[in-house]
This record gives sequence, structure tokens and C-alpha cells, in this order.
Amino acid sequence: MGRDVAEATLGESCASFDDSPQLEAEHLVDWPTVINLAIALTALGISLAAFRSGIRQQRSAAFTRTQEFLLDADLQAARATVYRAEIHGTISENDFSQVMRAFATFDTVAGMARRGAVNRNWILDEWHHQLRRMRKPFELALARRAQWHDFNPWCDLDDLIRDAEIYATSRPCCVGPTLSERRTVTPASSPGVV
Ligand SMILES: [Zn+2]
Repeated sequence: MGRDVAEATLGESCASFDDSPQLEAEHLVDWPTVINLAIALTALGISLAAFRSGIRQQRSAAFTRTQEFLLDADLQAARATVYRAEIHGTISENDFSQVMRAFATFDTVAGMARRGAVNRNWILDEWHHQLRRMRKPFELALARRAQWHDFNPWCDLDDLIRDAEIYATSRPCCVGPTLSERRTVTPASSPGVV
């Protein structure tokens, strides 16, 4: 009798010992909360991805519009006067208004880049060589303007040219052979020439 009671007591003890971790786990893990949390985190991830995609699309659209603006035929002609001034080291009387127009337009773009309306690095990546060539004509134009106005009207462009002067990229335009170093392709060996 005493032995039966002892075995029964031992059995109850073992049963309660085996069941206790399961009961604790059931109390520790609140599965509805875990599932709700997982759903909320997934929704947050999707929202963040959509937000980042929207930002990138906006940046791309702004950059495309800026490119169209800068590649306008009239502005290309104005830019040519800037490069002419860079080559000759002076701005001719006839070219001065065109040079001013080119600088004013690029200053507008530089201002947009400063405000974050258009990606500054993308502008630098696309225009760093052209911007570097603007330094000398820029200083010439400022010196001439100083006769009438003693302030720099193109501060943002000034900063953008300065950034272009130290801009580093591994793209072929900077690290590859220059055009004069490229192997000359004769018309006879050119594909498509019959
Ligand atoms: Zn380059």
C-alpha cells in the first residue's frame, strides 16, 4: 500500500515536471501578437520600398528635365561661346551676353542641386568636364561684371565648378584614353563601310 502511494506520488511529480516547460512556452509565446507584428513589419517594409522607389523616380524625372534644359539648342550655342572664351582667354564683346546667359542657366541648375531638387552627384557625373572648362571664362565674366556690380551673381555655379574641379570618377572619361590617344579607325577598316 505504502509502495503504491509512493509510486502514485512519484508519477504525479514526473507528470508535473514534464508538463511545466510546455505550459511556460505556451504562456511566453503570444502567437497572435507575433503574427500581427510580422504582418506590420512586412507592410512597413513594402511601404519603405515603395517610398524609396518613388524618390528615385522623382530624381530621375528631375534629372531628365534638367538634361533637356541644358541640352536646348540655344543653350548649346551659348555654351560654345563659353568654350571659345576659354580657348582664347578673353570674352569678345559679341559673345558676352551669350556667356552671361550660359552662366545664368547653369547657376539655376546649380541652385536646384544645392536645394536637393536635382541630384548634385548626377549633375557632376554628367557635366564635370564641361564645368571644369568654365572656370577661366567664369572669372573673366566676373571681372567684367565688376565694372557694374560688385557681387558674384552665380554663387551656386561657382561652388558647382569648384566641386567639378575635384570630382573623382573611375568612368572612362577620366581614366580611359583621351580621344587623341584612341586608335584611329580608318574608313576602309570601319565596319559597315563598303
Ligand atoms: Zn570624367
